[in-house]
Amino acid sequence: MCGYPSEIKKLIKYVEETREERLKKPYRRLSLEEREKLLKEWHPDYKPGTKRPLRVGVCKGTVVYNEVADLLEAWPLIDPDQIDLSKVDYDVDVLVIGSGGAGLAAALWAIYSGVSPDAVLLVTKLRLGDSNTVKAQGGIQAADRPEDSPILHFIDTVGGGLFANKRDLVEALVTDMPFIMKWLEDLGAMFDKNPDGSYVEVSGGGACRRRLHCARDYTGLEILRVLREEFLNHDVPYLEFTPAIELLTDPEDGGVSGAVLYNLETGEYYVASAKAVIIATGGAGRLHIAGFPTSNHYGATMDGVVMGYRVGANIVHLDTFQFHPTGVAFPEAIRGELITEKCRSLGAQLVNVHGEQFIHQLETRDVVSSAIIKECAEGRGIITPTGAMGVWLDMPMIDMLRGPGTIKKALPAMYRQFIRHGIDITQEPVLTYPTLHYQNGGIEIDVFSRVLRPNGEPIPRLLAAGEVGGGVHGRNRLMGNSLAGILVFGRRAGITAAKTVKETSTRPKLSLKHLEKYIEELKSIGVPRERRSPILLPDYRGEKVLLRSLRIF
Ligand SMILES: Cc1cc2nc3c(=O)[nH]c(=O)nc-3n(C[C@H](O)[C@H](O)[C@H](O)COP(=O)(O)OP(=O)(O)OC[C@H]3O[C@@H](n4cnc5c(N)ncnc54)[C@H](O)[C@@H]3O)c2cc1C
Repeated sequence: MCGYPSEIKKLIKYVEETREERLKKPYRRLSLEEREKLLKEWHPDYKPGTKRPLRVGVCKGTVVYNEVADLLEAWPLIDPDQIDLSKVDYDVDVLVIGSGGAGLAAALWAIYSGVSPDAVLLVTKLRLGDSNTVKAQGGIQAADRPEDSPILHFIDTVGGGLFANKRDLVEALVTDMPFIMKWLEDLGAMFDKNPDGSYVEVSGGGACRRRLHCARDYTGLEILRVLREEFLNHDVPYLEFTPAIELLTDPEDGGVSGAVLYNLETGEYYVASAKAVIIATGGAGRLHIAGFPTSNHYGATMDGVVMGYRVGANIVHLDTFQFHPTGVAFPEAIRGELITEKCRSLGAQLVNVHGEQFIHQLETRDVVSSAIIKECAEGRGIITPTGAMGVWLDMPMIDMLRGPGTIKKALPAMYRQFIRHGIDITQEPVLTYPTLHYQNGGIEIDVFSRVLRPNGEPIPRLLAAGEVGGGVHGRNRLMGNSLAGILVFGRRAGITAAKTVKETSTRPKLSLKHLEKYIEELKSIGVPRERRSPILLPDYRGEKVLLRSLRIF
């Protein structure tokens, strides 16, 4: 409970001095040319030396971030000869990998579409529901007001994605969303409502209408609550602390036939055979792309992309990641955690060390991040005691604009996150800097959530949904569109899986032939043996910590 050190606290007066003036005069929006210039000069995606072309696999030559290339140019955790594929531990119709929103939605819709719950197996790396989904704060987009339409949602999404989105995926996203809201309501999700029963809807960056639905600032937690309850009610078998580490393929058609699982507690491997496999492993924040801190949960290590790529999936837009503009810059203990965009939706402005606003708070995320990085790099940021940089997010403005008590009512998670560290956001601004937040791209999917090869053909029996899937968000995701995407494509994956099961009369064969081929490629480029993936859990043991452990033990 220590709050700001005195040196930083002194600077708050500059924010307070300009507040009245800023409240009266809205900051101008940037022109398209100004936005492009800012991105090119300051966004990490444009920084030289951070990316390289892949040297192995079906997308050889495709440029991705170095951290992604390291992961894809890495040895598998297993030696294919080590796994006895004649002994099948789990024989199911549908295998779902991951228990965030996408995985749970996929499992449920497979069941709603006719698969018996006991013919589904969900495996997950940590506990059921440990995921980025539970961390989602701000809200979920659905165009369901008379003033809005899915067409406007489409235009915003494609503009926000820098026109690189797959248009048919965006169409699926925006047209399914009003139905998905109805489904969540039927499951019992409690979204914020007006006294007349209509949704409270706020603006998100890059959106031309208010279409963000929220449950205070615990939206993801509320969505996951109802999905998990529905999943448990159906008695679906699931394994915790048992990540998938490799997919299995049938050499006859190259399609997927199951996965190798790894028990994190006992170190045992299991073989799971399935007629349809759904990858829903989420994102990659824990790769700390370009050295940024992250808002992501501990298990976000891009495992699904690694497994999918090794069986021939096309990868898209992995040369671009989302650096959310407002990560926590201070206190150090929660550095990188998210300060939801909803704060800016409700009116909090970004202000430099001199108390000057330098960007409209509701420009798209990539643009706002670039503006913050620029401000700090040019010496107009605030330096924290650990040497991190940040600018102010003027939180008290929210209560001034929307009435006293708004912060505590609409942003209880934010209030608690800071008050624990002695910072009262109803009275004081917070220090913020971009944080690695979202994997814009991933393994390419189509509107049926089928995973595609580079030639556009689906890989038989392999589906993907959620943050692991690429194409829908283009090169920059809009706020509220990820929760939307995981449910829209999770549902579609479940429906396609059920159809695939019906169409697959005989069990596909199990092999790791694709891995043997991949290993040959790794050998040919001389990848060091120590580099392994999927990494499953990040390793934060620096050299100093390791030495200390050696001394202790
Ligand atoms: C702090 C924060 C706030 C956010 N706020 C919003 C918001 O307001 N609105 C919005 O639209 N989006 C938001 N997002 C983004 C959104 O929450 C995520 O993109 C989305 O929830 C991802 O869902 P998912 O199901 O694809 O992945 P996740 O929810 O991350 O689930 C992935 C699951 O896969 C498991 N897993 C991983 N690897 C393996 C493996 N090898 N084997 C088995 N299981 C594995 C994980 O443990 C986890 O259970 C936010 C994200 C964060 C981090």
